[in-house]
Amino acid sequence: MKKIAIIGAGYSGLACAKKLLEKEYTVTIFEEQDEIGGMARCISRNGYIIDKHYRHIFQSDTYMINLLNEMGLNQELQWLDTRMAYYSSEGLYEFGTPLSLLRYKPLNFIQKIKFGLSIINLKFIKNYKDIEKYSVKEWLVKRYGESIYNKVWEPLMNGKFQNEKEKVSMAWLWGKINLRSTNGTMKGEKLGYLMGSWKKLNDRLYSYLIENKCIIKLQEKVEKVYKSENKYIIETDKNKYEEFDEVVSTLPYNTMEKIFNDILDNNEIEKIKQMKYMSAKTLLINSKKSISPYYWINVGDNSIPFVGIIEHTNMVHKTNYNSENIIYISNYLDKNDEKYKMSAKELVELYLPYLKKINSKIDLNDIISAETFEEEYAQPVIKTNYSKDKLNNRLSSGVYIANMAQIYPEDRGMNYAIKLGYNIAELIN
Ligand SMILES: Cc1cc2nc3c(=O)[nH]c(=O)nc-3n(C[C@H](O)[C@H](O)[C@H](O)COP(=O)(O)OP(=O)(O)OC[C@H]3O[C@@H](n4cnc5c(N)ncnc54)[C@H](O)[C@@H]3O)c2cc1C
Repeated sequence: MKKIAIIGAGYSGLACAKKLLEKEYTVTIFEEQDEIGGMARCISRNGYIIDKHYRHIFQSDTYMINLLNEMGLNQELQWLDTRMAYYSSEGLYEFGTPLSLLRYKPLNFIQKIKFGLSIINLKFIKNYKDIEKYSVKEWLVKRYGESIYNKVWEPLMNGKFQNEKEKVSMAWLWGKINLRSTNGTMKGEKLGYLMGSWKKLNDRLYSYLIENKCIIKLQEKVEKVYKSENKYIIETDKNKYEEFDEVVSTLPYNTMEKIFNDILDNNEIEKIKQMKYMSAKTLLINSKKSISPYYWINVGDNSIPFVGIIEHTNMVHKTNYNSENIIYISNYLDKNDEKYKMSAKELVELYLPYLKKINSKIDLNDIISAETFEEEYAQPVIKTNYSKDKLNNRLSSGVYIANMAQIYPEDRGMNYAIKLGYNIAELIN
């Protein structure tokens, strides 16, 4: 019976473990944190549990939907009405439905038609390879002109990728828009939420894996992976060494260099060095007042120091949360950006004047509590011609990798982490 090590208990590692156990392998998961779930970990509050980062799924997320069914959580998955808006220097406008586009004042009539066409035309592109050599800016400006790019796309790309924005491949935007389907209505779209938080899935998966004899080593960080003959030796921060037949790593590219140093070839090291990630800094506030009626506000004004306002209680009713408004303020930053290191108090002080632009009535007395959560490797920057820079799913040493940067042309997401975990498990014989 093959003995397999999985490094990381996020959804890619957990899904991979589930499939490998079904194939009757012996599986050990190493996780440096004290619980499983990775970026989908949650926190307990007085009377409820809430996700550290905003969280929803789309109708096209079939791997996640099926996993929830298998874990007996289909009743808890609810499809909820949500509305989206766009905040630009010209104000706050509903966005995301055909009607809202018609009413969107910052674009003139011709620009609205062109913007609508740009989204529709993406649906006709069947092969991402036809567009991966173009940057988002190059492709959109060439076809639809500079004004739409500058008014809508540039601030959004800036929000997510900052100085890296002009390197991002059009294949990334295509994957984000084209492969996603929702149950859209004239009023907005229905998004899926696991009532009670994603901790419910984490807990069910934990029990399922343990019942199926998976060994889950929490608070055990993998420091090094060596190869000896046909076996892999895993060294952890507990000064423990263990031998395995196969290793699956779900670690981001940037941390792989140190851990797999002895077994990477030069080409792999080169690809790892080229990869850049944006870090996420999420401010979670409980507020007496709601900021707006929208679930999701994209902030397309570069003078504002955050990129999104996700008002969770505009999707899930606030009676589930002691009748407080749960609001995430989202940011994607370079990890050296001073905002990445700021405390919740500092961020509230920095953000409040800008939140007031959206709702002038909100003030400091409305903020009941505030916490921040960071993810250093939150979003890989998918550059042009990425299929040439992507590592193989099996490295030259035989180690398998299943991290967010291997998800291409789809954009990262829980659904695709599960899909990748399953695919890697299928490769192991
Ligand atoms: C702010 C934000 C919001 C998001 N919102 C959504 C959303 O609404 N819907 C959605 O579908 N997706 C969302 N995502 C994306 C989604 O969370 C990720 O795509 C998914 O959780 C990634 O899973 P993973 O297993 O690839 O990685 P991770 O979840 O990062 O798992 C990797 C695990 O490896 C562990 N680890 C790292 N180093 C070591 C080591 N040396 N030894 C042992 N363990 C180690 C980590 O602790 C972690 O648990 C969001 C992401 C962010 C950052």
